[in-house]
Amino acid sequence: MPGVPPTRERVRAYAPVFESCASESGAARLAIRRMSVDGTPLILTVDPQSLQTSLERAACWRCQETSDAAQAETRYLKALHPPQDPARPPALVNAGLIHGAGGGAFVTGDLCPSRKPLDRAFFEELAAQGPRTPVMLAVSGGWIARHGADFAWLREKARSGALDIAWANHSFSHPYVRRLPDGRNYFLRPGVDVDREIFETEKLIIAQGETPSVFFRFPGLVADAALLENVRSRHLIALGADSWLALGLRPRPGSIVLVHPNGNEPVGIKQFLRLMQSGAMPSPLRPIDEAP
Ligand SMILES: [Zn+2]
Repeated sequence: MPGVPPTRERVRAYAPVFESCASESGAARLAIRRMSVDGTPLILTVDPQSLQTSLERAACWRCQETSDAAQAETRYLKALHPPQDPARPPALVNAGLIHGAGGGAFVTGDLCPSRKPLDRAFFEELAAQGPRTPVMLAVSGGWIARHGADFAWLREKARSGALDIAWANHSFSHPYVRRLPDGRNYFLRPGVDVDREIFETEKLIIAQGETPSVFFRFPGLVADAALLENVRSRHLIALGADSWLALGLRPRPGSIVLVHPNGNEPVGIKQFLRLMQSGAMPSPLRPIDEAP
C-alpha cells in the first residue's frame, strides 16, 4: 500500500509498564505496555477479570502506576502467580499452565520458525466447527518474517469471523540447536535477551494490526525458575500443554492441546483431525482466556 511505512517502523518507543487505568466511561483496565503506533501514543491493556487485551489510545485513559501487590486480588494477577502445585515436579520442561479450568478443550498451535507453508487443513477443520471457533496461536517473529501471506490468511480468517484467534508470543528468534539437551537449549542458550524476544514479537503482531494476548509459550516449552520469573515480570502468563498430540498425549476435559500447524508436525495435525472427526476431542473448544 502506498504511504504505509514498513511494518517494523510503525511501532516505536515500546516500553513495559504496569498501570491502573480508567476511561471517561468508567471502564477499568491494566496497562502493560506503552508505545507509539504511526505516531499515536497507545497502551496495551488487559481486562483484569476477563484477561482480554486491547490496544487503546493513551489520550482516552487516565493511568497511574500500580504494582502486583495492589492488583493481587484480580483474576489476572492470580493467573500470573498461581499457587505451587506440589504434584508437579520442578522440571524444566512444560513450563507454565498445562491444564485449564473446567471442561472442553483449549486448542493451541505453535508457529515456530519454519520453511514449510502453514498447515491450512488444521484451520479449515476449526472453522468448520462454526463461527468464531477459538484457537490460540503462539507465533514467533521468525515465522512471521517468512510467512507474510500465511499470516495475512490467518488474519482474514479472524476478520471474517471464521476463527477467534488469540495471538500468543512464542519469542522472536526461537533459539534451538538440534540434538542439544533441553537444559542447554532454547531459552537456556547463553545470551538470550528475554525482553527483546518478548517485545520484538509483540511489535510485529501490533504492526500487522493485531493485539497480543497475555500468554507466552516458551520455545520447546522449556524454562527454568528465573526465566519464568522474567516473563512474569513482563506480565505474561506462561503456557505449557498437557496434550501435545504428536507425543501421543490424548486430551481430557480441560486439556491444553498443542499442535504445530507450521508444517513441521503433520503427525499432530493428523491426530487432531482424527480426534475432531471421531468426536473424541472434549467439547466445546474454549478460548484460552478461560483457561487460568
Ligand atoms: Zn516452538
